Amino acid sequence: GQSILDISTLELHFFTEKGVIKAIDGVDLKVGEGEIVGLVGESGCGKSVTSLAVMGLIPTPPGKIVGGSIRFSGQEITHWTNKQMRKIRGKDISMIFQEPMTSLNPLFTIGDQLVEAIRVHKKCSKKEAQSLSLAILEKVGIKRVGILKQYPHQLSGGMRQRVMIAMAMVLEPRLLIADEPTTALDVTIQAQILDLMRSLNREFGTSILLITHDLGVVAEMCDRIVVMYAGQVVEEADGRKLFKNPSHPYTQGLLKSIPKLDENQKRLYSIPGQVPHPLNMPQGCRFAPRCEYVMETCWNKKPDLYEIEQEHLSRCWLHQGKEAIENGKGDADT
Ligand code: SF4
Ligand code: MG
Repeated sequence: GQSILDISTLELHFFTEKGVIKAIDGVDLKVGEGEIVGLVGESGCGKSVTSLAVMGLIPTPPGKIVGGSIRFSGQEITHWTNKQMRKIRGKDISMIFQEPMTSLNPLFTIGDQLVEAIRVHKKCSKKEAQSLSLAILEKVGIKRVGILKQYPHQLSGGMRQRVMIAMAMVLEPRLLIADEPTTALDVTIQAQILDLMRSLNREFGTSILLITHDLGVVAEMCDRIVVMYAGQVVEEADGRKLFKNPSHPYTQGLLKSIPKLDENQKRLYSIPGQVPHPLNMPQGCRFAPRCEYVMETCWNKKPDLYEIEQEHLSRCWLHQGKEAIENGKGDADT
């Protein structure tokens, strides 16, 4: 069906004194109507930058979209001004962040902040906005008396994150971008918040882009999963395929690092090495310095995304025949 979000060969650079950082390097990412898509990768891989680009929240300069496009509901929003973006931010596209980074203001009550969020986009009285606020708070499981008069510090971390979700959902946006929404929360609350997002998706048909470093979080929740590494998409598939047949060595590493409840693992696996420095990207495959399957070709030829089965893409030379490797079209960076 139609995509609510359609990011196509997006390139976003940061122009710094030390050089050009290619934070997003040719990323394609689609979120369908009513779909939940997981965007997964370690911190520094470009997932947050991608979501901030969609929201029009990249500081320009030093950031700049130098190629590709972002379409929201068929409309080209790639180079919209802040003023244009403000019209759809919060109303059509909403975003929630990880705790400490939440946008709850410590100086204002929950009620004031919700009412404000509503009245920016919707003509209604303060009373109406208050009752709308109470209704959405109840939807996210907050029924506490006097909640509207409370300040953020009077709530637990889990409650604050629910309030954030309420605030993001109150205008029934068509797309919700959730960047590490449960990372700071304990496991039980995490599960509740994810359940909540799933039920809001069902009830309102809201499409969700769920960004996380933790493949375990997206396992049950997402229709489709996109794995990013060093500014590029390295694997993409529907959730079941990805877990059954993870194909990119990076994805395999991420999967191995999910703790398993039934095994009493003393030490959790983690992928050796680090995400490459953006000013010093490997010339061929960006994962080469950390990859246990690295071959000669990988060091100097860039792999393309390759369809290894229907609607399952992976960016790795291992999937391509010997011939493709020898004639590699992906020559090293110039
Ligand atoms: Fe590893 Fe080579 Fe595949 Fe890159 S292209 S992930 S280095 S095997
Ligand atoms: Mg991040």
